[in-house]
Amino acid sequence: MKKMNSKGKYEIFCHKCGKKMQMTNGIVTEGIIRLQGKWGYFSNKDLQMHTMDLCEECYDSITTLFKYPVDVTEYISVEDDYYTLEQV
Ligand SMILES: [Zn+2]
Repeated sequence: MKKMNSKGKYEIFCHKCGKKMQMTNGIVTEGIIRLQGKWGYFSNKDLQMHTMDLCEECYDSITTLFKYPVDVTEYISVEDDYYTLEQV
């Protein structure tokens, strides 16, 4: 979640725990993931898109509760992988 601080600078926070993410030159320099999904018909959130940013600790605390592990694939890193203020 991107919020502007009292000095007019944007900061990024974890939606679950509220932790302010460490940033250097507009790039988040610790583990964070953006999760985004669209709700469709037959849900109670029809046509809503939900977006959340989670720090790595919160992500791990949630996914360890899952009955089945998340699907993990590896990909080749590119410069776009950096989590920047422009993305949020
Ligand atoms: Zn967190």
